[in-house]
Amino acid sequence: MSASQRLQSARSAAGLLGSALVLLSGGCVTTPPVRPTQGVSQSQPTTQPTTQPTTQPTTGPQSPSGVQGALGTPPTSEPKPPLPPVQSWPELRLPWVNPARCLSRCDYSPGEALVRISPSGEEDARGKLQVARPALAPLRALLVAARQAGHTLRIESAYRSYSEQERLFTSIKEIGRAARPGHSEHQLGTTIDLRLPTSAAIAWLAEHAPEHGFTLSYPPGKQRITGYRPEPWHIRYVGVELARLLQSRGLILEEAFRTQPSLGESGGCADCPSPASRKECGAVTSAGTCQGSVLSFCYEGTLASVDCALSGEICGTGAPSAGSVATPGATDSPVASCQPAPKPAISANLPAVAR
Ligand SMILES: [Zn+2]
Repeated sequence: MSASQRLQSARSAAGLLGSALVLLSGGCVTTPPVRPTQGVSQSQPTTQPTTQPTTQPTTGPQSPSGVQGALGTPPTSEPKPPLPPVQSWPELRLPWVNPARCLSRCDYSPGEALVRISPSGEEDARGKLQVARPALAPLRALLVAARQAGHTLRIESAYRSYSEQERLFTSIKEIGRAARPGHSEHQLGTTIDLRLPTSAAIAWLAEHAPEHGFTLSYPPGKQRITGYRPEPWHIRYVGVELARLLQSRGLILEEAFRTQPSLGESGGCADCPSPASRKECGAVTSAGTCQGSVLSFCYEGTLASVDCALSGEICGTGAPSAGSVATPGATDSPVASCQPAPKPAISANLPAVAR
């Protein structure tokens, strides 16, 4: 794709989202992703990746727990020299949602921009899935490219209305798997959960999604930044220019918003119809606490909880794992974070006589 095409792509993304924001202005803000769950067909991520995440070579069949563990590790383990900060971000204004931020209008809907599609991305008037029109062609191009590379990806979930998100949030029992209503990127219509059948497909998506204007909102190792478990299947359309820029710097959209707040627009959640859209931190601080495998921390004034076990990790305090950077405002007290599970000591596996 040429530079001008990239620019065009970014502009169309900006146009779509910008107009959405104009319609909203006033209310609340943010959006979270939803953790697909078993029994919740809408959100089932599908990905139950049966395989290993990304950069790591696969060595034979893997157990779900092995996959989860891989999902929980940072994308790359080899240290790379730090890149200079981005000097110039694209001139975009995108909805900025996270556990604390709502959409500008909490119950926002793309309305007539929504298109019904099949799980393979074809327009289908009777399809149960919906995406916002500007994301459709890029999504189809992504699926075609995946197929050409040997990966058959299916769309598991796309647009979800505020009320659908509320139903999902209240029905899911696993802690931290679903975003609160009004906080989900799925409410934008430009965010999709894909079914990723293999570890190779997971790796392919992470590498090639930006070429089509999509960015992974919740890659492994970013729980402290996103407030959610790793979701390698969850992609959001932001335009090729921004998606490639994020990829080149190893950043996610949430980090870009924090670096350049003018890039994002959020609401304050006061207009959210459901009390499920809000949750105070109570006694939980930004340093966070562990209760078993569940990490809870105060995320910009909102309680965020992530079950580290969902990504094969443990919740621990002390030195955070790579990428588990505390949220702004974190104190000097020990920080709780999802961390790699300790490997069993070799001696534990030896017969007593050998000790
Ligand atoms: Zn999702």
